[in-house]
Amino acid sequence: MKYILILTEVQFKKDAELKEKDLQRENITVEIKLLDPPVDRMEIDRMLEAMPLGAMVIIFTAGETRQLIRQAANTAGFSDEDIRIERMDTGNYRIFCSKCHLINDTASLEKSLICKKCGQHLEPSDHYSRYHDSYLGYSIL
Ligand SMILES: [Zn+2]
Repeated sequence: MKYILILTEVQFKKDAELKEKDLQRENITVEIKLLDPPVDRMEIDRMLEAMPLGAMVIIFTAGETRQLIRQAANTAGFSDEDIRIERMDTGNYRIFCSKCHLINDTASLEKSLICKKCGQHLEPSDHYSRYHDSYLGYSIL
């Protein structure tokens, strides 16, 4: 049985949950831990110690925390292959316009936006397209 721990900073909770759903579909046991700023190394150490042998760690983070978690994971005996870092750019979600297909940048998946090209009002959805590397934006009135 595969076991994956997802560590995520609170602002990337939504991305982490999408990942969780993806992995669960592959019958992988997934656990999400939210990291509240400032991230505490001791807390990470405790989370990692509780992991079964052969577990993998996925990290959703934007900044300094990345190195901190990597070091903690290495110390806890995880090899670099067992640690995957999903580097998140704050304020940089890609939203695919359902009308003109332009990819817009936005700071939040919670807020609607206006397409820069066609002016369509878009609502970011949970639907992530690997092909377009972006979230689908639904047209709203
Ligand atoms: Zn558009």
